[in-house]
Amino acid sequence: MGVERDPKPDAAGGSGITAGFRAFETVPEGRRLNSATPLDKTFPPRHAAAMAFESESPLDSLWKEYGRAFQDWDDLTLARWLAQTLGELEGRAWRLSHPLVGAYRLGAQLAHEKQIWFKRLATPPAAYAESPCCRAPFLPLLTRDVRESGLICQHCNETLVPFDEIPADIRAEIEAWAQQYEPVHAVAHWDDRQRRSAGNYDAAYENAAERAEQLLARAGREIAPKLLNSYAAAVWEDQDECLEVRPEDVQL
Ligand SMILES: [Zn+2]
Repeated sequence: MGVERDPKPDAAGGSGITAGFRAFETVPEGRRLNSATPLDKTFPPRHAAAMAFESESPLDSLWKEYGRAFQDWDDLTLARWLAQTLGELEGRAWRLSHPLVGAYRLGAQLAHEKQIWFKRLATPPAAYAESPCCRAPFLPLLTRDVRESGLICQHCNETLVPFDEIPADIRAEIEAWAQQYEPVHAVAHWDDRQRRSAGNYDAAYENAAERAEQLLARAGREIAPKLLNSYAAAVWEDQDECLEVRPEDVQL
């Protein structure tokens, strides 16, 4: 698409609004985007490697600062805000990078720590079912790892819907999409031998990034909206940090 990619990681640490549950993925030297955010730091990590991750990136600190706004709220205020915001989120498929989703996730993280949903201080909109993982309202995230991880809970970051339990009418389409995405994403993780055999690795990487942009756009345009047949709202991941695809590169 002719978009020039910055060869260096963004000094500010990538897109701050973008959630960082993938921050711990191994990225080849020199290709690392500092896409970490602390949004999921206190959640059980998706990868064991994350256990050892203790560093404080500038972006981590920034998200912590953002999150402090919620810490001043009492439990009832937080519960009511989350319930009301779920009402605003209802009926749409949202980019993970959307500021409203980012704010909701900050509040949801704190609510999870404080067990807000167990206390039943506020009633979420009726369209939201209760999550089996943490009893928060059902808010699934679609990622390229859906075949292994299923749809991810935006409250506790655990698997909310295992892949096999995704409604059958959309599962085949999601599976085909994820299967197409896998070899594209894998280009970012090629070893030296694979890179050498490709000849021009930079061109292969750039091609893969453009392909990822298209695949992510399809997820947002075609796949995520279909999740609304089964769920009150849905979120889709609109970035690929390993291929340096930012939300603004993914055009609907
Ligand atoms: Zn959960």
